[in-house]
Amino acid sequence: MSESIGSSGPGMKLHTKILLGLTVGLMAGIATNLTVGVDNPRVEWINTYIAGPVGQVFLRMLFMVVMPLVFASITLGVAGLGDIRKVGRVGGKAITYFFVTTCLAATLGLIVVNTMRPWERVAPETRVALMDRFAGDASTRVEAAATTAKFGPETFVNIVPRNPIDAAAKTDMLGVIFFGLMFGAALTLIAAEKAKPMIAWLEALSEVVIQIIHFAMMLAPYGVACLIFTVSSRFGIDLLVAVAAFVITVLIALGAHVGLTLFAILKFGIGIPPLLFLSRVKAALITAFSTSSSSATLPTALDVSETQLGIPRQIAGFVLPIGSTMCMNGTAIFEGITVIFLAEIFNVDLTLTQMAIVMIMSVITAIGAAGVPGGSIPLLVGILTMFGVPGEAIAIVLGVDRILDMSRTTINVFSDLTATAFVAKSEGVWSPKDVPAQS
Ligand code: ASP
Repeated sequence: MSESIGSSGPGMKLHTKILLGLTVGLMAGIATNLTVGVDNPRVEWINTYIAGPVGQVFLRMLFMVVMPLVFASITLGVAGLGDIRKVGRVGGKAITYFFVTTCLAATLGLIVVNTMRPWERVAPETRVALMDRFAGDASTRVEAAATTAKFGPETFVNIVPRNPIDAAAKTDMLGVIFFGLMFGAALTLIAAEKAKPMIAWLEALSEVVIQIIHFAMMLAPYGVACLIFTVSSRFGIDLLVAVAAFVITVLIALGAHVGLTLFAILKFGIGIPPLLFLSRVKAALITAFSTSSSSATLPTALDVSETQLGIPRQIAGFVLPIGSTMCMNGTAIFEGITVIFLAEIFNVDLTLTQMAIVMIMSVITAIGAAGVPGGSIPLLVGILTMFGVPGEAIAIVLGVDRILDMSRTTINVFSDLTATAFVAKSEGVWSPKDVPAQS
């Protein structure tokens, strides 16, 4: 699973191509909007026969892997916890840290997005037009909004699917997650020789799914160009302002999480000056920023934790690998903000209960996302549809995702390293005094 979803063959890097696709699609769309206007029959023809279908194929490639991806990663995550029971205390501490910091991150994201309200930069006419544009699945939208709107005993009962295949067919993420949790837990309790082939099968399934996402990402530069063209030819410059406001909101929330939560843990929970810690782990942070992959950063993270911080290998070697797939603070922030932003744009008014569900889903899917570039995108599409926001709306943010991915991955890795120091300190096997003098 360590291979990058964003990698491509020789030549121009895939993320550069996606950015280029975004720029070309956006410029062409805005120019069309400002000159001939969207009602021009030729523009309509391009949108109906070229831009629309290419964009759809790309999106469907992503949609089609959501359910197997969620099932495989949740099941494998829980099955992996079976080993953690053996390692008991250390595992418990690490998982508690992952869970608490990811919850704090998701909550902070929701607070920042509700304070900054980037969707208010979108003119009401643009919102109406956007809804029209993506009205294709309006009925599912209403249905989905209705099922998540009510709160009562059925909220919990509905989490348990009657039929897991039906849940997957209806993109019922909670149902599939619940089934995955049960499946994983059961796997840890049956005889090891029986569980082994199933785990190997699930590992293969998740790798296959990642490979399919690779295929989809090869289409991404064209898909993004087409999707953005159809949107911007219709909405012009207004959309650009909204997306810039969204990017700034995510970056502010990521910065706030580091400054408030992670620095507080370092200073008060571990007793190490945050800036000293930051300067010691910078090689890992730079790797995370440039690869957008927690998994690809793992070797560097292991190296800095040992050589730059002096943390014993048995702790770092245990906490960091799990952290690279389970501890994604930055991803949870990004997901929560994106869901709220797009929901508001599409006039899906979320109640407080639904906001809480967005937070919980951001935490669960951040834990379930693969530590590879764009690893959280398919899961994010799943949450969007769950709240009645058309999954296609992801196109609005996908073009700018690379910069957000680089930033959130850096925060993910920073939090993994903080977790390692926290666990090592609380186990009494390391203290800030053990940080080697810089050579
Ligand atoms: N790229 C992220 C990581 O590897 C995952 C994501 O949020 O897409 O940590």
